[in-house]
Amino acid sequence: MRLQIVQPIKSIDELASFCKRAGFVFPSFEIYGGMAGFYDYGPRGVELKNNIKAAWWKSIVQDREDVVGIDAVTVNHPKVWEASGHVASFTDPLVDCKSCKSRFRADHLAKDILNVDVAGMPLEEVTTLLRNKNVRCQKCKGELTEARKYNLMFKTHVGPIESDENVAYLRPETAQLIYLNFKLVQDSARLKLPFGIAQIGRAYRNEIAPRDFLFRVREFEQMEMQYFIKPGDNKKFFEQWKKERMNWYLSLGIKKENLRFREHIKTELAHYAKAAVDIEYKFPWGWGEIEGVHDRGNWDLSQHSKVSGKDLSYFDDEKKTRFVPNIIEVSAGVDRTFLAFMCEAYATEAERIVLKLNPKLSPIKVAVFPLVKNDNRIVKFAGNVFSDLKKKFVVYYDKSGNIGKSYRRQDEIGTPFCITVDFDSLKKKDVTVRDRDTMKQKRVKVKELAGYLEKQLQ
Ligand code: ATP
Repeated sequence: MRLQIVQPIKSIDELASFCKRAGFVFPSFEIYGGMAGFYDYGPRGVELKNNIKAAWWKSIVQDREDVVGIDAVTVNHPKVWEASGHVASFTDPLVDCKSCKSRFRADHLAKDILNVDVAGMPLEEVTTLLRNKNVRCQKCKGELTEARKYNLMFKTHVGPIESDENVAYLRPETAQLIYLNFKLVQDSARLKLPFGIAQIGRAYRNEIAPRDFLFRVREFEQMEMQYFIKPGDNKKFFEQWKKERMNWYLSLGIKKENLRFREHIKTELAHYAKAAVDIEYKFPWGWGEIEGVHDRGNWDLSQHSKVSGKDLSYFDDEKKTRFVPNIIEVSAGVDRTFLAFMCEAYATEAERIVLKLNPKLSPIKVAVFPLVKNDNRIVKFAGNVFSDLKKKFVVYYDKSGNIGKSYRRQDEIGTPFCITVDFDSLKKKDVTVRDRDTMKQKRVKVKELAGYLEKQLQ
């Protein structure tokens, strides 16, 4: 066999331009000049994204007996975010350039330039640190202002009048809506601790400096699950969920050496949090968080109970006691996960770009081609194979008759199998099946084809 020299992705810009050309991701509003931090998913991207979400939902909800799902609204009552603490403190430290007015996150400047983690550091100290080390504007070298707080929530108004009384927020995370529905879900689904509530949905953050393609955007999706437990069981379930979540990424093809846990240091932890760990992926620019696993204690339910005046406690039938459950949260970003799977799968070889996605995630599972486009018998045969397979798989039919080009196009979008109908097929009632990764071909009888593919795609 020929030795292939495989080149992994070199930069995130290379991946962004590939994603645009191959129909995965487009910059939003491009014809009007675009807007930083917003991206649309194209025909291939939406399939990959849906497959990621479906794989998550299956492993978190459908394969388990102790987790159920919800789908809640994204325009939210202001009390939710007052109670959660977001109105007061969902902030990032911001500095402006006094000359060119560019804005930067002070914590990012400290990390990127000085390699100092300023999480939890008072703003005055952050200002002093940047000034003492002479950190200046990254665009024009101008002087920076003092660091100040900047709230990341998008504000809107409900109804026709824009006043302080009808303020609403676009949710910056999906978790809070799970806490609000805790009692309704528990009663209606008759759940006993420990149990989880999961949700996939949009979240909005007015990030100061969107960057690194899909990594830091202003509208994104989260896949979150809140696991409600008895107080005291925190350590056990925290460790269990850390393991489960790491295994999910590994099972879908991310290499072990490209994943790691990063424990939050004391100053980084929210005041109520007992423990927190990030699952990080090794992106082309370095390690970045794709998911957080958090032990939130009983803070969320207690807080919503206090502010709403509604009882959100749990009655333990066996022990005849009432208490506020504790929560272990797993919170992954769909877009960052998408980016990690793309970075992991993208490879350039001597004469092709190939996306070595796990077949479960591939936008298209099988492509069918007639060898030539001007022979009716072959075209009809291929059409029948396509119609048959379509009942079971996501299949693409390409009757251009240019097999070399068709293979390359499917390699680029990660299609694991390409099927070609040739002249021999007419006599032998078989087809060739080409494997994306090895490029090896194998003849398979048409009547065994669906079973063969099913086995390969498992
Ligand atoms: P960061 O520190 O990078 O801003 P975070 O710790 O604030 O992230 P969480 O609030 O824990 O993030 O959100 C859970 C997940 O949501 C993150 O692990 C990430 O995958 C995703 N996420 C958060 N902010 C963004 C964003 N601006 N763009 C894309 N995904 C995001």
